[in-house]
Amino acid sequence: MSKRDYYDVLGVEKSASKEEIKKAYRKLARKYHPDVSKEDDAAEKFKEASEAYEVLSDEQKRAQYDQFGHTDPNQGFGGGGADFGGFGDIFDMFFGGGGRRRDPNAPRQGADLQYTLTLEFEEAAFGKETEIQIPKEEECRTCDGSGAKPGTKPETCSHCNGSGQMNVEQNTPFGRVVNRRVCQHCSGTGKYVREKCTTCGGDGKVTKRKKINVKIPAGVDEGQQMRVSGQGEPGVNGGPPGDLFVVFHVKSHEFFEREENDIYCEMPITFVQAAIGDEVEVPTLHGKVKLKIPAGTQTGTRFRLRGKGVQSVRGYGQGDQHVKIRVVTPTKLTNHQKDLLKEFGDVSGDETQDDGFFSKMKRAFKGN
Ligand SMILES: [Zn+2]
Ligand SMILES: [Zn+2]
Repeated sequence: MSKRDYYDVLGVEKSASKEEIKKAYRKLARKYHPDVSKEDDAAEKFKEASEAYEVLSDEQKRAQYDQFGHTDPNQGFGGGGADFGGFGDIFDMFFGGGGRRRDPNAPRQGADLQYTLTLEFEEAAFGKETEIQIPKEEECRTCDGSGAKPGTKPETCSHCNGSGQMNVEQNTPFGRVVNRRVCQHCSGTGKYVREKCTTCGGDGKVTKRKKINVKIPAGVDEGQQMRVSGQGEPGVNGGPPGDLFVVFHVKSHEFFEREENDIYCEMPITFVQAAIGDEVEVPTLHGKVKLKIPAGTQTGTRFRLRGKGVQSVRGYGQGDQHVKIRVVTPTKLTNHQKDLLKEFGDVSGDETQDDGFFSKMKRAFKGN
């Protein structure tokens, strides 16, 4: 499941130039191309090198990879790393061109799968090891994939004589034209199942739930994804399997908001606490933390709790928590409270102590 570093895969330095990266990739691609190499794990190595090259040869993707590593949200999907055909232009350069060869019997990689995993806010912050169940198509074991009831065999389609195709003759103003079409009776398989296997209903395939254990690193965020190598659909003609991409959906939190690795929250305090100061307890992801509110604190004042944010998904660095103060004006007062506040008002007068505001106002209305 752990992925090798792309620079290691290509055997180049982190500071390698575009030219060096291209050179290294060409060398590996020549060595491991499935049409050329006799090594057992050539296809896997080829795929790995292709994927590394796809990212490191693209300035933007490379910058993202340098910053986020393999968990970058924008990298991986549809990138072409899983599709040999996507590198046609490069192959043409050193396989002599001549167009793309598509041998139907050549090994092909299985399709990639996507799975959306919903995480609690805290689970994304601290990581989690969990088991997911993904639906996977497998060959039916009852009929070994033939679709025929055990003891029977699929018969040759009598409409196309097993070729899977039919010639359709048409009379046109230009004479007789023969078109070849996929046989509708056997959907091009050339076979006909008289008695269907009851397990798979004649499809030859069954959908099973496969359990996969995934270890989610601490610090993942909404929309980011993780590649689980080799857990996609099985390969064709002995090709390597596809990959599974686990995409994270992170639930919102009633108290915290997250931006990158920093946590933001709002802390309501009474106007008495704001005026004469206090010590309050602020919830953080890491437990309650005491915060000193200085006398004379205004609404909107921000305090930073260092290191109380989320750990960087790359494994180093830790965000902070930002606490924004909101001074709450009371709405329900008893008569006794009202009397006390009136007395307070009589002693202090009805002007606020914001000198800056009044001097600005005086300047603004000078001469009126
Ligand atoms: Zn047929
Ligand atoms: Zn079956």
